[in-house]
Amino acid sequence: MTTTARLPKPNSEEWAWQLRAACRDLRTAHFFHPENERGGKRVERERRAKRVCRRCPVIAQCREHALRTREPYGVWGGLGEQERRGLLGGRAAR
Ligand code: SF4
Repeated sequence: MTTTARLPKPNSEEWAWQLRAACRDLRTAHFFHPENERGGKRVERERRAKRVCRRCPVIAQCREHALRTREPYGVWGGLGEQERRGLLGGRAAR
């Protein structure tokens, strides 16, 4: 079950960086996989999403938000789900 308890409170200072996001006008389907998406389709969709992230002016803020709140799904800050899990595992080990 998804919970929002891990997310920052709804004040504008916590979320203002999203107003400058390169993905702001794109469909969320570019960044979040549909149910049962696997293999090459998933790899290609993530590759396209990460291409958008590379030119995003708030990639650092987005990545830090995703790691801090342990976003479980989608591409955030140029990182996919497994990449974030790997980084969080490394942080926990230190
Ligand atoms: S880094 Fe990627 S996911 Fe994050 S706000 Fe920018 S474009 Fe969107």
